[in-house]
Amino acid sequence: MTFSAQILTLYPEMFPGPLGTSLAGRALEEGKWACSPIQMRDFATDKHKSVDDTPAGGGAGMVLRADVMASAVDHALDQQPDAPILAMTPRGKPLKQARVRELASGPGVTILCGRFEGFDERIFDARPIEEVSIGDYILSGGEMGALVLLDACIRLLPGVMGASSSGDDESFETGLLEYPQFTRPRKWEGRIIPEVLRSGDHAKIAAWRKQKAEEDTRLRRPDLWEHHRDAPDQSPSGARGQKKEDRS
Ligand code: SAH
Repeated sequence: MTFSAQILTLYPEMFPGPLGTSLAGRALEEGKWACSPIQMRDFATDKHKSVDDTPAGGGAGMVLRADVMASAVDHALDQQPDAPILAMTPRGKPLKQARVRELASGPGVTILCGRFEGFDERIFDARPIEEVSIGDYILSGGEMGALVLLDACIRLLPGVMGASSSGDDESFETGLLEYPQFTRPRKWEGRIIPEVLRSGDHAKIAAWRKQKAEEDTRLRRPDLWEHHRDAPDQSPSGARGQKKEDRS
């Protein structure tokens, strides 16, 4: 099945952009996902093709018109009725790995990319749109956010990542950060790889990794740690504490 991404944007030339290279680029060529950018300006009705207007109540910048956005969204819904419609906005629900997994297991996504001061709020009442934020900072437009979201989904599609990396161990999959990684040379600038990782003892390595993952999460991300402790078995994969070595 092809994961189909429709992107409603004023800058369709930004897609697939960086997602045309590497893992995602190969997957695109292989038809594992499809990329359909749609120019929102095509849904403007006046002779100037305007998509925005000044903010009600005054203030700086411009606001994307609800009527034009609705026409664009309705067109996207016609094309792909089963895909959830997401709008990029810093006011949205912060994107988490669990939601990325859900989206990646579905038919695709339609993503509405904001510009200027964002959207006329009424669009979110009038259409079934999920508002998504990619973090507590402001981008100049939703396109970068859409690329981030798509990259996170695409790597999870069947056959996109190598067989060795199911992704279940990654940071956030278990509600924890991943344990630290090392590779050769064994000794570099006087720093030596933790001895246990060279022991060949898989149980010991798994125990060390679990301990490091917990310790690092506690120190670096107390917010995640608290949540993990309160809800220990809520990982999307149900793989908490389990390491690659434990599986066949
Ligand atoms: N005035 C708005 C910011 C507008 S930024 C506010 O203060 O909330 C312009 C567009 O960039 C937004 O409409 C949105 O589509 C996108 N954008 C900016 N920051 C984002 C973020 N953290 N997550 C997702 N989209 C973002």
